Amino acid sequence: MVEVLYSESDLKKVVTELAAAIAVDFKGKSVLLLGLLKGCQPFLADLCRELSCHQIDLAVDYLQVSSYVGTASSGKVAIKQIAADDSFCQQRNVIVVDDIFDTGLTLKEVVSWVLENGAAQVKSCVLLSKSGCNRTEMTPDYCGLEIPAAFVVGYGLDYNEKYRELPYIKILTENE
Ligand code: 5GP
Ligand code: MG
Repeated sequence: MVEVLYSESDLKKVVTELAAAIAVDFKGKSVLLLGLLKGCQPFLADLCRELSCHQIDLAVDYLQVSSYVGTASSGKVAIKQIAADDSFCQQRNVIVVDDIFDTGLTLKEVVSWVLENGAAQVKSCVLLSKSGCNRTEMTPDYCGLEIPAAFVVGYGLDYNEKYRELPYIKILTENE
């Protein structure tokens, strides 16, 4: 038996709510959703589909970001640009989209990077936030679900590149 923390329908509901919250702030505006690879993928795709119901001029791009080794943050965040054009953030309303907020180091670094690269404004949106782990002064602007301080997989989140394909979120157990 798989112990599911959040089911497919829980995730669908929360993504709909996040899109509605973003639409309150950005209706009629243009927005660049900036996904953090690889974990953001299913979440970003579902968020895009939900945002299509609202009047937002949407563009999508990605950064490749890594900080985790196995099940712990290394504390060092490596950022790699995917877009060919160096000015892709300039004068844009950027929403950084990540799967999970843990120590906060990733979002903190990426938000600074986006501002340094000329964004007009930057917000952050995460599906999950781990309680009691934040090592920064920042909090995500849009946050879907709080989770306990455990290592989770599924819906884009991996353990050594496994489990990203699961349509639900579960806690990784010791014998996996
Ligand atoms: P932070 O920089 O906030 O500590 O961590 C954010 C990044 O660490 C996420 O983008 C994700 O890649 C990874 N991460 C943090 N917690 C978890 C977790 O419980 N499971 C998985 N699979 N990745 C995590
Ligand atoms: Mg990540």
